[in-house]
Amino acid sequence: MQTSIATVSISGSFRDKLAAIAAAGFDGIEIFEQDFIASDIAPRDVGAMVRDHGLTITLFQPFRDFEGLPEPHRSRAFARAARKFDLMTQLGTDLMLVCSSVHPAAMGGVDRMAQDFRDLGDLARAHGVRVGFEALCWGRTVNDHRDAWEVVRRADDPHVGLILDSFHTLARGIPPDSIRAIPGDRIFFVQLADAPAIPMDLLYWSRHFRNMPGEGDLDITAFLRAVAATGYAGPLSLEIFNDQFRAGLPRLVARDGHRSLIQATDRVRRAEPALAVDPPAFPPPARVDGIEFVEFATSADEAPAVEGFLAAAGFAPVGGHVSKQVAVWRQGAITVLVNTETQGFAHTAYVAHGTTVSEIALKLPDAAAAAARATALGADRLNPAPGPGELSIPAFRGVGGGLIRLLDDGPDLGPIWQADFRLTGADTAGAGLTRIDHIGQTMPYDEMLGWALFYTAIFDGAKAPMVDVIDPDGLVRSQAVQSGGLRVTLNGAEARRTLAGRFVADSFGAAVQHIALATDDIFATAADLARRGFPVLPIGANYYDDVEARFGLAPALAARLRAANVMYDEDAGGQFFQLYSLTGPGGLFLEIVQRQGNYAGYGAPNAPFRIAAQKRAGRPAGLPSR
Ligand code: MG
Ligand code: MG
Repeated sequence: MQTSIATVSISGSFRDKLAAIAAAGFDGIEIFEQDFIASDIAPRDVGAMVRDHGLTITLFQPFRDFEGLPEPHRSRAFARAARKFDLMTQLGTDLMLVCSSVHPAAMGGVDRMAQDFRDLGDLARAHGVRVGFEALCWGRTVNDHRDAWEVVRRADDPHVGLILDSFHTLARGIPPDSIRAIPGDRIFFVQLADAPAIPMDLLYWSRHFRNMPGEGDLDITAFLRAVAATGYAGPLSLEIFNDQFRAGLPRLVARDGHRSLIQATDRVRRAEPALAVDPPAFPPPARVDGIEFVEFATSADEAPAVEGFLAAAGFAPVGGHVSKQVAVWRQGAITVLVNTETQGFAHTAYVAHGTTVSEIALKLPDAAAAAARATALGADRLNPAPGPGELSIPAFRGVGGGLIRLLDDGPDLGPIWQADFRLTGADTAGAGLTRIDHIGQTMPYDEMLGWALFYTAIFDGAKAPMVDVIDPDGLVRSQAVQSGGLRVTLNGAEARRTLAGRFVADSFGAAVQHIALATDDIFATAADLARRGFPVLPIGANYYDDVEARFGLAPALAARLRAANVMYDEDAGGQFFQLYSLTGPGGLFLEIVQRQGNYAGYGAPNAPFRIAAQKRAGRPAGLPSR
């Protein structure tokens, strides 16, 4: 498969775009004419620059308002086309995209449009180029790929073909299976874009909200399966108009784009093995079994505050690393490492962010396979070559520069602890916390789509719809991703004064802002935590008056919630209880949750009130500021 991306998808100058696209591993680019004009580089030099980067120009676009025009508009359109064909020859590309007309004078009529394309085909042949017709979903007379195909079919010219764009098909709700009947060699080019499911004007949606396949809500896999069924073997090209990406770092946007294409085609290969030209090139996504441990990086000075916080939450010290300054704290099936080394990755993380979560270790059925998949999808492996005598435990760069380690969930897990650690048999029943329910990661909003894609591309999981969380000082967007026993809530901060924005700023871009721990009995846990002096976040009386009325709670339950500062939510599947700590070392806080039945959420309706309470409470005295 030849991968390609439109220059319009990436920010920066033409040179910046080329460098980023080449570095991300693409094979080709679509030249968006505006980018070419803005570059002020001669066409032949543009062509040479592209080839010097090891890329080909897969397409020149867009040629607008061509078909169905009366004279004199028609003759002018042909004269314009001849100029662009000359330009294409100088650039070194042979395919031009003609998008369906929005010209006020454009007339319908399939045969009239077919004749226009037959004549354009003659002109293209004379210039040694080809043209492809794309139905814009807001086109004046053609806004459906089935109609564009009918025009192309009737034009019956080998220099005229169809161009498909997943956005235009899926945004209008056109069944992608209608593509299956089109001969693959009549499809000249395929563009891919996803988008979030937000009802709005099609043109505005397309120009501002497109995103990478897998980052939105359109069924790109169904579209691509239908394309594969035609036998199409040309380039798959990203054409993403997105305000965030236009302002984003070219290198990161290009990397996410390449990852999205690789994972999208991987899904098709697995869904339609009979159609696959190439077999899957790397292992399938696997479900995460759970989180084996979380590591806090801190210093010897700040470790007592971290460990005091853990002790108040019911954790017990159970030993340490044989040779490194790493203490192990446990409760139930939750393991937290406190690393106070003065060198190595954790120390670097501490120096960069202050006390922080430097590492999350995931258990998988086959860590080596998961690592091979992550590598194929462009994840940044931090330890490709382990030192002599070191276990080869793959680790990748995650959100905020934190490390994600992949462990084999099997008989080898025990020996890792036995070989490297000296552990006592301390009682770890604690306050009844059993496992990590989810991890809350905070990041600048423009990185959020990319990190959701990171998790859902590498692991077998799903994302929940994005929700808006109202902070008293701005909006925070939140999206949950889940793969088996791994649940992560991603919070994208746009405004600096939001709690999430302040955390990102104060911690110099650290990611983990809270860890949610599960209990089977929130009220028993709350009572136990109170005895241990756990710093509970006080929740206001107005909240309880509302929640009691909203859900029609029994007065006895409402009184228990109120007394214990426990927040409440429910959905069709069950009930949810939440209790928060005050902000602790490194700006981190703990959340204690109880899921009853099949409650699927994370208490999003409570978030505005929890955030307001956190802002009121501030930082407790005696805890370090970072
Ligand atoms: Mg397009
Ligand atoms: Mg949470």
